[in-house]
Amino acid sequence: MLNEKTNKSCCEGNIESFLKTGNTLCPICKTSGIKVKNITVKHLVINTFEEQVGDTDYYICTNGECDVVYYNNQTNVVFSKNQIKVPIWFKKGADPKYACYCSKVTEEQVINAVVKNGANDLDEVLKLTGAMSNPQCQKNNPLGKCCHKIIQDAINKGLSIRNNI
Ligand SMILES: [Zn+2]
Repeated sequence: MLNEKTNKSCCEGNIESFLKTGNTLCPICKTSGIKVKNITVKHLVINTFEEQVGDTDYYICTNGECDVVYYNNQTNVVFSKNQIKVPIWFKKGADPKYACYCSKVTEEQVINAVVKNGANDLDEVLKLTGAMSNPQCQKNNPLGKCCHKIIQDAINKGLSIRNNI
């Protein structure tokens, strides 16, 4: 009796998590992705491919080495780096590497603000670089999320460079 119960809940759990991960893995590299809203994908694919986007949400491949950007495993639609209007900052060879997609401020500009201009935190960096002055992250950021976290990562990089000079 006890065994039966244990086995059953165990199997159900497995199937559920299997289906969940199965749907979110990149079809090429099998890395798990992050969900991205349809409006973001539609706005960022090159106009020629906009029709192929359809009305579904997508996942973004988080593997920097993989050329796949957006994918939907139910509709089997895949968009790779060369079909996206902007370089994806965490993908290999991204140039320029944007920290803020809305105001087109690069990671380098944020790092310079910290290392050369002495900015210490997000507020000071925003003032110096003009980052996040026109926030439209849902449309401009490849994850459809606020750029704030990428900028903070770039600030941290700048701070560690400054501390090591
Ligand atoms: Zn991938």
